[in-house]
Amino acid sequence: MTQPPPRIQIGSFTVAFLTDGLWRNDGGCMFGVVPRELWKKDHPPDELNRIRLNLTCPLIIRGRDAILIDTGIGNRLSDVERRIFDHRDGWLPDHIQALGMEPGDVTAVVCSHLHFDHVGGIVRRRNSGLLEAAFPNARIFVQKGELEVASNTRNERLHAAYRHIGEILAPVASRIEAIEGPASIIGGVTAMPTGGHTRDHQICIIEDGGDALAHLADIVPTRSHMRGPWNQAYDLDALTTMKKKALYLGRAVAERTWVSFAHDDHVFAARVKNDAGRLVLTNGVMVSEGLDG
Ligand SMILES: [Zn+2]
Repeated sequence: MTQPPPRIQIGSFTVAFLTDGLWRNDGGCMFGVVPRELWKKDHPPDELNRIRLNLTCPLIIRGRDAILIDTGIGNRLSDVERRIFDHRDGWLPDHIQALGMEPGDVTAVVCSHLHFDHVGGIVRRRNSGLLEAAFPNARIFVQKGELEVASNTRNERLHAAYRHIGEILAPVASRIEAIEGPASIIGGVTAMPTGGHTRDHQICIIEDGGDALAHLADIVPTRSHMRGPWNQAYDLDALTTMKKKALYLGRAVAERTWVSFAHDDHVFAARVKNDAGRLVLTNGVMVSEGLDG
């Protein structure tokens, strides 16, 4: 039986930290220009140089609204890809059930961007092999520019980053709503473009009752990426990533509000404090060691 996911309260919103499971990816790709000697202590690499990562998907609940931010990898990977990324079937459906909910109760999905580890779980592969919408009643919010680049690019690097996109978007095409710029999903929940990781990457901000949570998605994928120069090799514009994370982390420090990370394997979310120039986490919502599928 899956444990119920940890939750925090942001005013009248409950935010549950679901995960689509732990996985592994190359440490060099995750830390870009930062040498392995510096990241290996906090993120010990395995014999294939992979580090352990999470697939954090916050679920924002109030009344009948249930807004999911990102969907993890899902269960669509081939056997070879499952070995490369050390990921099995996605855990998201079990974690939704552990909250006493069904996938059909999710009213909206906000996609930070369309890389496979954020959007793969928007579909489920049935035993027959057919892919179907994982959240059959959800409106799906994606930045228009992200959709355009993912669907139409001829650039070799971008094309590789979005090679899964036709298969994933086809079953949910009629549910997708392309948004341009900042967009209110419901009152108090805002999708906010940042660029940086991809040109149209967006974060999600939840505000109510004088408190707030910014899910920083892939501009601060782990706690270690709070440091300015620690950025993923995947970032198309690392200088924009640096500017935007300084803005939102600075705001979280000044206003004593929450941030959450897409991929940290220890902490889902925390408040942030400036300790003599170094950002430290307080009130951490921790990833339980007993996490299992
Ligand atoms: Zn990611």
